Amino acid sequence: MLNLRSLESIGEAVRAGEVTVREVVRRYLKAIESGQSLNAFVEVYEEEALARADAIDADIAQGGWKPLYGAVLGNKDVIVVKDHKVSAASKILEGFESLFSATAIRKLEEAGAIVIGRLNCDEFAMGSSNENSVYGPVHNAIDPERVPGGSSGGSAVAVQAGMCTAALGSDTGGSVRQPASYCGVVGLKPSYGRVSRYGLIAYASSFDQIGVFANNVADAARILSCISGPDEYDATALNEDLPEITITDPKPESRRIACFSEVLNGEALDPEIREATLAMIEKLKAEGHAVEVVEFPYIRYVVPAYYILTTAEASSNLARYDGVHFGYRAGEAETIEEVYTLSRSQGFGKEVKRRILLGTFVLSSGYYDAYYTRAQKMRKLLVDKTNEILDSYDFIISPSTPGTAFKIGDKTDDPVAMYLNDIYTVHANLTGLPAISLPFGTHSNGMPFGLQVTGRYKGEKELLEFSASLESTIKD
Ligand code: GLN
Repeated sequence: MLNLRSLESIGEAVRAGEVTVREVVRRYLKAIESGQSLNAFVEVYEEEALARADAIDADIAQGGWKPLYGAVLGNKDVIVVKDHKVSAASKILEGFESLFSATAIRKLEEAGAIVIGRLNCDEFAMGSSNENSVYGPVHNAIDPERVPGGSSGGSAVAVQAGMCTAALGSDTGGSVRQPASYCGVVGLKPSYGRVSRYGLIAYASSFDQIGVFANNVADAARILSCISGPDEYDATALNEDLPEITITDPKPESRRIACFSEVLNGEALDPEIREATLAMIEKLKAEGHAVEVVEFPYIRYVVPAYYILTTAEASSNLARYDGVHFGYRAGEAETIEEVYTLSRSQGFGKEVKRRILLGTFVLSSGYYDAYYTRAQKMRKLLVDKTNEILDSYDFIISPSTPGTAFKIGDKTDDPVAMYLNDIYTVHANLTGLPAISLPFGTHSNGMPFGLQVTGRYKGEKELLEFSASLESTIKD
């Protein structure tokens, strides 16, 4: 039977002629329509998706086949698609259309996927709740009074609510893994450089990575295989291909796994999530893996280091939105200075302004060494210390988030409480390592939470093959 939550199932059904790609698209369009109040999609490419489906159906009828035929993908509003609007959920990019497609989008289309629309997110991917959007908040489909997480909240909900087979997001500090955890879906952040950032609107360039939301690890792996690879348009893209990932044997060889004691014993962690993590450690041991709780005292520095470095990079990246080059310009501006100040004051939202100010501050001459340089040193230390752990262990596991999805409005007045949501996820971005959030359990409050697995740099193959086995361990 056709399962719209599995690429393999869709592919098989389409190939066997049991269903047309047009029908698959139509079903997702229906789900998008009935889930409109969740506010996940800000634009649906209905006509275009159906036309593309017809072309694919015609090709299949001629015996043609491509790896992503039947796959229907949602795309976060920070990844550009040729001749389509893109706004980073910001007023400052109002009306802006892209002249080219991101490399990830081009590759998806070449592999036969259909991009069905543009997904809501936090403005310039800055946020952990999807409340910082010019389009208004996204609602978690399990409890619409709660946030979906952020910044890729629309992508998480689109997959959670069955509006597409998978979705692209971006992950600078957890924006794929944290919403995946809050919505009960799989969220993958590849190693830095695994996927080209060409066509991804920059937030903090040395952290940003395009990631994938899917219903299962196999789908995430398949999409990653299609979008990864070298790219002459992005000098930071890895100059090598992703090794082939084979998800067959559900119980792989015995692995060595670390879990940080500071995470398990940290006061931020919800007691039920802690219990679930401890139980998981025992289960993994029973399966023959060596799991050890190790000390990693640097955890307390990850959020401060992340918010100093990313705001510094953001203040520089966002300088280009000046009322001249792209999008919004304040109508009443008369002098050149007013064009800049009024366009930026009116065009950017509160959180983006907060970060530009913070970033400008940490880079300013009297404070540069006290903040920016120290945070850079901390980043280097984190990379070294984490790699030391990964010399002895294959993976690091932790909860993806300290708690479950909170109520809309609960943390909007407390930026620090909001930033602490990212305590377990920013580590992988500071170090450039691949990490994934897997649906792990359901809290007594009814909301899901995720298990994060971090692998070695460029170790997506091992990470995804192990994660696929974990999916069945979690279900057992
Ligand atoms: N929540 C984090 C932040 O606000 C992560 C954002 C992201 O990964 N894009 O910076």
